[in-house]
Parts: sequence; structure tokens; C-alpha cells
Amino acid sequence: KLYNMVQDLKGNIRVYCRIRPAFNAETKNVIDYIGDDGSLVILDPSKPRKEGRKVFQFNRMFGPIATQDEVFKDTQPLIRSVMDGYNVCIFAYGQTGSGKTHTMSGPSEGSIKDVGINYLALEDLFEISSRRKDIINYDIHVQMVEIYNEQIRSCASENGLSLPDATMHSVKSTADVLHLMKLGGVNRVVSSTAINNRSSRSHSVVTVHIHGKDISGNILRSCLHLVDLAGSERVDKSEVTGDRLKEAQYINKSLSCLGDVITALAQKNSHIPYRNSKLTHLLQDSLGGHAKTLMFAHVSPEGDSFGETVGTLKFAQRVS
Ligand code: ADP
Ligand code: MG
Repeated sequence: KLYNMVQDLKGNIRVYCRIRPAFNAETKNVIDYIGDDGSLVILDPSKPRKEGRKVFQFNRMFGPIATQDEVFKDTQPLIRSVMDGYNVCIFAYGQTGSGKTHTMSGPSEGSIKDVGINYLALEDLFEISSRRKDIINYDIHVQMVEIYNEQIRSCASENGLSLPDATMHSVKSTADVLHLMKLGGVNRVVSSTAINNRSSRSHSVVTVHIHGKDISGNILRSCLHLVDLAGSERVDKSEVTGDRLKEAQYINKSLSCLGDVITALAQKNSHIPYRNSKLTHLLQDSLGGHAKTLMFAHVSPEGDSFGETVGTLKFAQRVS
């Protein structure tokens, strides 16, 4: 209960951290301790144990064996509040390969196996909608866009056209949602052949629009934004030029803008720099005010990612 009170005082910003399983048994594992209270201790593989300890604190920690359902269970109350009129943003942050897409979409887009938050959230919203159908009538629409080099592009349209007002898809069942995600996934893959692995260098934003009308005719409008961010890894400027350098600069800028906005909100600053990036501008109405924000910081347990892991954890600590 005290924990919830602290949350309220902090203005509805929460930070969860998820560590993916280790794939490479050859490298050292940096995880030293994961606490039920959200604490995390990691070890710098290049230093003696005593000197290399770094301690972090989050609202919740998910270790390598945490399941999709466990992660969803702690996200569900936030998602449900969308049906009561709150705007909600959920972000997946971390370097490429740290598990962002796994958390948000699952191992493969458009498949039911090990599905992530996007699908589970919609399934839950449909269930609430049907449970409340005698008192309130909900309409649910989904929009999928990608932000690449500060340009917004629609993902889930049949031809992948560039549409600033991305197509709204009415969804009535989880089958509709799966179809849409497959379409969105396919369109991201199509563009990745043009520019190698582009999906890791764009922000993917799935927006669920809720429109409700109760028996007295009162209208409720809210939205849930599910954001799979571009990879946060630092790109070595000496090694990249041209388009790759431009991409890296856009990503650095937009991720640091996002950090600035969330930090400014947490500190209750009077000026919130929403307009400094396309992403924060797009999400402006759903960040701050009564809106609720959840950031998932994703890290790899492998020693060779230690530098990036510390970068991600520091970013997440700063916004929490
Ligand atoms: P990102 O989107 O951050 O680049 P991915 O979600 O694509 O990373 O994850 C990289 C790889 O690791 C994928 O093959 C993914 O299925 C796997 N993976 C990530 N997180 C987990 C997890 N918690 N459990 C099992 N496999 C995972
Ligand atoms: Mg990804």
C-alpha cells in the first residue's frame, strides 16, 4: 500500500527492468542479484568483484526466467485503466537484441506463441468491453506507425504508404489484432530489405484508441500507446558515415528527448520539452497530466554488453 502511495506521489511514472536469458554461455554473466523489491546488482566483468558492483533500483525486476504472463500481470492494472478513461504509454527501451520486441510483440509477429503485451493488452480490453456491454458501449481502433529519421510512416496499411494520419483499423476480436500485427510486421520487414535491419533503427508505435458511450450518453475517450523503441546502442561515430550516421544521430536525439520529457514530468517542471522530437510530440497528450507511463528497461545479462547495459540502467534510473 505504501508502495502505491509513493507511485501516486511520483506522478504515475513507473520503470520496470527485464533481463533476457543468456544465449552465449562463453561470456561472463553480469547479474549478481535480483530482488523482489525491484533491486538489481550487476558486476563489471573487467573488475574485481568488490570494485565492480553497481546497484540499481526499479519499481519491478523481471529476471531471465520471467514469463510473458508474469510480465503482463504486473502491467495489466495500468492497461485496464485505459477503459476508465486514462491515457497510458508503455515503452520498451534497450539496445538491439535486449528483448524489446519480445516483450511487446513476442517471438514472432502475427503468431499466438508466447505473445507479448500488445496482444495480451487487446485481449484484456476486449474482455472488459464485453463484460461491461450492458452499461457502456466501447469501440476499439488500432493505428500502427513507425518513426524513422524523424518521419512518421504508417505500418499497417495494405500498401505501406506514408500517411501522417495513419489508417485507423477497427478491431473487434483478437483475430483482427493478430491479422493487423502480421501486416505491421510484414511492412517493417519489407522496409528492412531496403535498409539493413531498419526495424531496430525505427520506433514502432501501436496506438489503441478507446471510445466509450454509457447508457446516459456520456462519452469516454482514451488511448493506449505501445512503443517498441529504436535500439539505444551507442554507434561508434568513427565507424559509420552517411545514412547510418544520420540514423544514429536521429535515434540518439529522440531517445534523449524522451528521457528529458519523462524526467521533466517526474520532477514536475513547468516546461516539458515535448516538441523536441516527433515521438514526444506524437505522444504529448498521453505523457503527463493524468496519463500513466511505464518504461521497460531491457538488458542482456552477457558480459560483452556491459557498457550498454549500464547505459540503459542509468537512463532508466534517471526517468524513475
Ligand atoms: P530487440 O527487439 O530488443 O532487438 P528481441 O526482442 O528481438 O530484441 O530479442 C532478441 C532475441 O532474443 C530474439 O530472438 C528473442 O526472441 C530473444 N528473447 C528476448 N527476450 C527473451 C526472453 N525474455 N525469453 C526468451 N527469448 C527472448
Ligand atoms: Mg526489436
